Amino acid sequence: MANSKFEYVKQFEQPDNLLPNTWIVVRIDGRGFTKFANKYGWEKPNDRRALDLMNAAARAVMAELPDITIAYGVSDEYSFVFHKSCTLFERRSSKLVSTIVSTFTGYYVHLWSSFFPDTPLSPPLPSFDGRAVCYPSVQNLRDYMSWRQVDCHINNLYNTTFWALIQLGGMDGTEAEKTLKGTFASDKNEILFSKFGINYNNEPEIFKKGSVVFRDYELVEPGSHNTVAEVENQAEPVEQSKTQNEKDRKRRAKARIVVEHLDIIKDDFWDRRPWLLSNKPGKIPKEP
Ligand code: ATP
Ligand code: ATP
Ligand code: MG
Ligand code: MG
Repeated sequence: MANSKFEYVKQFEQPDNLLPNTWIVVRIDGRGFTKFANKYGWEKPNDRRALDLMNAAARAVMAELPDITIAYGVSDEYSFVFHKSCTLFERRSSKLVSTIVSTFTGYYVHLWSSFFPDTPLSPPLPSFDGRAVCYPSVQNLRDYMSWRQVDCHINNLYNTTFWALIQLGGMDGTEAEKTLKGTFASDKNEILFSKFGINYNNEPEIFKKGSVVFRDYELVEPGSHNTVAEVENQAEPVEQSKTQNEKDRKRRAKARIVVEHLDIIKDDFWDRRPWLLSNKPGKIPKEP
């Protein structure tokens, strides 16, 4: 290392390593996407192309960062989960967050023209903010994921009804807002059905449930793997041999990264996919 009288400035850098043995969630969110959506004339309340683009960018991020075990996206946000044993960048928060944000944004811009072939991007270009939060237990992590999916459901039911009142019912925004003030989910379902013949249950899953991205292995029988106890009882991440690490890496690289619109609140999703919590890659499904 070259010594100079200036190098003392390095000492001003603050350490920001995240708490060990906790699940790290990096959530990113589009900056000013209400305006951005208007600028590009996105369909209200759900522009399918915009969601597909978010999902394609998230999938690319997962492919570049094998340490990510699962991601969940809705609207202009995405949450990326690092396993609690992850040691990437010594778990330094700013390195993790900035890498995710820039990789995601890079792909978002790169892939834009595949999803919006007729509307080229122009400044101000899309950008995302990001933050990292540590969750100490599987329950906390699952509650976090459930929180985001419930948010998706509540917002989507509201937005679907709001825009139906405007687009199909001829109301303006203020009238629609007034109509929905103080209503419960059942009231919104009823408005959709009785006024517009829309059965909310038949709305596309991607709108109702958001998108889950993960590596796909063979599903297991629920109850056959007690992953939670195994993971929660680890005092510290188990050190694996180099050969085992190499094997895992290869299997992870071979696994298909899928985008699904499943219920991640119920146990079933996690029970059938023990690799999400255990961090041990499963069996690669045989080609059909
Ligand atoms: P901030 O910079 O604070 O995040 P924002 O305008 O991005 O501000 P959000 O709360 O993040 O506000 O909301 C996201 C906005 O982007 C919403 O207004 C939503 O309608 C719009 N949006 C995101 N994705 C889509 C989509 N696929 N189709 C239509 N609109 C979308
Ligand atoms: P900021 O980005 O400035 O930290 P924010 O609340 O806009 O604030 P987001 O990441 O955009 O942060 O919000 C994520 C979700 O959290 C949104 O759906 C928002 O409605 C919700 N939310 C915001 N504040 C609270 C809160 N105090 N309790 C529960 N949910 C909240
Ligand atoms: Mg936003
Ligand atoms: Mg948002």
